[in-house]
Amino acid sequence: MSSLKADNMNFIQKIVETVKNAFSDLVNEISCRIKEWQIRREIAKEKKGYIGRLTGSEIQYEPEEPDKELALRVVSYLRELFQDGIESKLQELSIDERKDLMCQIVEEAEKIFEVDSVNFEILYPTTVEEFYAYGCGFYDRSKNLLCLNGAYLEDDHLELVEEQIYTIFHELKHARQYAAIEQEKEYGYSEEILDAWKYNVVVYIRPDESDEAYRKQALERDAFGFENYVRELYTKSI
Ligand SMILES: [Zn+2]
Repeated sequence: MSSLKADNMNFIQKIVETVKNAFSDLVNEISCRIKEWQIRREIAKEKKGYIGRLTGSEIQYEPEEPDKELALRVVSYLRELFQDGIESKLQELSIDERKDLMCQIVEEAEKIFEVDSVNFEILYPTTVEEFYAYGCGFYDRSKNLLCLNGAYLEDDHLELVEEQIYTIFHELKHARQYAAIEQEKEYGYSEEILDAWKYNVVVYIRPDESDEAYRKQALERDAFGFENYVRELYTKSI
């Protein structure tokens, strides 16, 4: 074999190798995509079933022992902070002071909720879409970020401003759920509730998919339920 021919063979082999590699990359990518698509299809199927089970169900929030204790701590905190009632305190505050108060509550409440300190932002919607997308607020686990919709803090209706205090408790409850299921913290919740939260993280239902199922799914039922439970206990205590 002449050296020229040998070089040609090397060249051809290289091409063949390159094509083979590219082909196997392509095959890998396709199989990854198929797997991803299968997982998404499975989740969509599960979610459909979950929405079906929740819709029309009588399922209610039942506070477990750790939440009963937490609610009492939150109520005594509110009583101390608002000695003459929430509304009378809010009446005295300027809009900027309302925002400072929210920052203060987040900082103090995260200790009461026994969660790591969260990043906190007040968001100001600039479009109707943003206003609805923010809701009253939300908690983003990937950034450990708690956001409040600032539009409600600037409103003349003090009950909307007051609502944002309960929104903080709602969102911190989400932070606590994640800390519980990721086993960062041992709060003493039952295996049953932890499993329901873990399942719900995978098949999370957005309000636009079903408003009823959104409120009744395990994570939201717990956060809305806890928020209402605190509101009722506080109202009874004053
Ligand atoms: Zn929520």
